[in-house]
Amino acid sequence: MKYRDLHIQTQREAPNNARTQGFAFLVRAGYVTRENVPTKLGEIALEHLQVLSSDPSFLLRLSLPTIGNDQETFFPIVTGDIEVAHCPSCKYTERLEFAKIKKTPLPQEVQLPLEKVSTPDCDTIESLANFLNIPKEKTAKALMYTRVSDGRFVFVVVRGDMQLSEAKLKAQVGEVRTATADEIVSAGAAMGYASAVGLAPSRVEGLKDALIVVDDLIPQSQNLVAGANEEGYHLLNTNYGRDYSAEVVVDLIQAKASDSCIHCGNPLNVLPVNILATRKEYYFENILRALAETHHDDKGLTLPHPAAPFDVYLMHVPGKETDTRAKAEEIYIALQSAGISVLFDDRDERAGVKFNDADLIGCPTRVTVGEKGLKEEMVELKSRMAKENKFVSLDKIISEIQSEHGYRTN
Ligand SMILES: [Zn+2]
Repeated sequence: MKYRDLHIQTQREAPNNARTQGFAFLVRAGYVTRENVPTKLGEIALEHLQVLSSDPSFLLRLSLPTIGNDQETFFPIVTGDIEVAHCPSCKYTERLEFAKIKKTPLPQEVQLPLEKVSTPDCDTIESLANFLNIPKEKTAKALMYTRVSDGRFVFVVVRGDMQLSEAKLKAQVGEVRTATADEIVSAGAAMGYASAVGLAPSRVEGLKDALIVVDDLIPQSQNLVAGANEEGYHLLNTNYGRDYSAEVVVDLIQAKASDSCIHCGNPLNVLPVNILATRKEYYFENILRALAETHHDDKGLTLPHPAAPFDVYLMHVPGKETDTRAKAEEIYIALQSAGISVLFDDRDERAGVKFNDADLIGCPTRVTVGEKGLKEEMVELKSRMAKENKFVSLDKIISEIQSEHGYRTN
């Protein structure tokens, strides 16, 4: 492709909305606009990735520091729109809302008798734990929902020091919404003082009783303080199995940073990421972004073969006696015939301007056709990552480039 046909617009400065260097260079090199919309050059880069993706090992060939599991592949990035839990030790990775953690039950206790106590103004776990002078771990937290599909009241119990993952709940019972005050009263519960002990049977004909769902740590936790379903009162020593039971006992907990990894017990990190692939599809714009974040230096992108949309940046330096551009055209055609993809900078610009753009756009190899070299039937070849350039005779260009890239046509 030719530079002028692609209407490439490079920028001298990074856009002021750039939060990462990769994005700044994608904009400066003219792959995307400041608003992150792909340009013509960007579209070609994306199509190129799409073609490469017919190879199942495609992502591995791009040399990206990805994390993931057998379902999804992610790229850590500060601007990521997804949060994952990630174990630096065993590499366990899962979307935060579905991440599993190792839970440590409190020491086993003998079950004590239920006791109703007055707890005025204790409608949060915080205030309750303070009032009774107990750790939050010794309380049961109630969350109340209504299932969208059938209107059934859903009563959820997790330990008071933990947070519910609504995603895990929905994966078990289907879509839910927060229960209304009326629905809570109808179920025999009291807002801020609710527990699964003694919930009323459904008063609506044909509607089932509350669906009780508890976290799997609850049956292992004795003598928890829970609501008395009466404003201003709580029950001491509620025990799962003796005082209430549940239709569903399952992991419901939202993981957080420093929770223990389910597999190895080491502390988890929480990282913002972009998704690169699921088993079914690739996210090419995110892959291009990940490439830019991973492969750049202070001058621009350093995209490796085969990730780069073009293997060669071909340019001519306008000459005084020789038509360097005509010679570059010949080389352009020859390289393409050999299956090498070329971006031909066909502008009559100064060498410095073109060198800067070549560095920004980041093709693996730059080929420069200049008057001096041509007198000796040579062109200048420079690998984007190398400091030095070298002169190669015209009849050796193709083989030289092919060996540099460990070339295979895609
Ligand atoms: Zn681990």
